[in-house]
Amino acid sequence: MPRSACEQLTPTEREVLRMLTTGLRVTAVAKETGRRESTARTHVKHLHQKTGTHDIPALVRWAESHRSCCVG
Ligand SMILES: [Zn+2]
Repeated sequence: MPRSACEQLTPTEREVLRMLTTGLRVTAVAKETGRRESTARTHVKHLHQKTGTHDIPALVRWAESHRSCCVG
């Protein structure tokens, strides 16, 4: 895992990532944060690009291994 992925995450992306690790779906994340679902999906798309993952389970696993650095 390139360290740069951690540094590239924006505060909003970190927030979305933390919520996904609690098991919330993207629709629920959008609702909780008061954002449009399309906006939440864009954040998720960027998270996939930055972390090199292609689905939510992989993204959540990535986040769990980054609790001590960028996601905590
Ligand atoms: Zn990290």
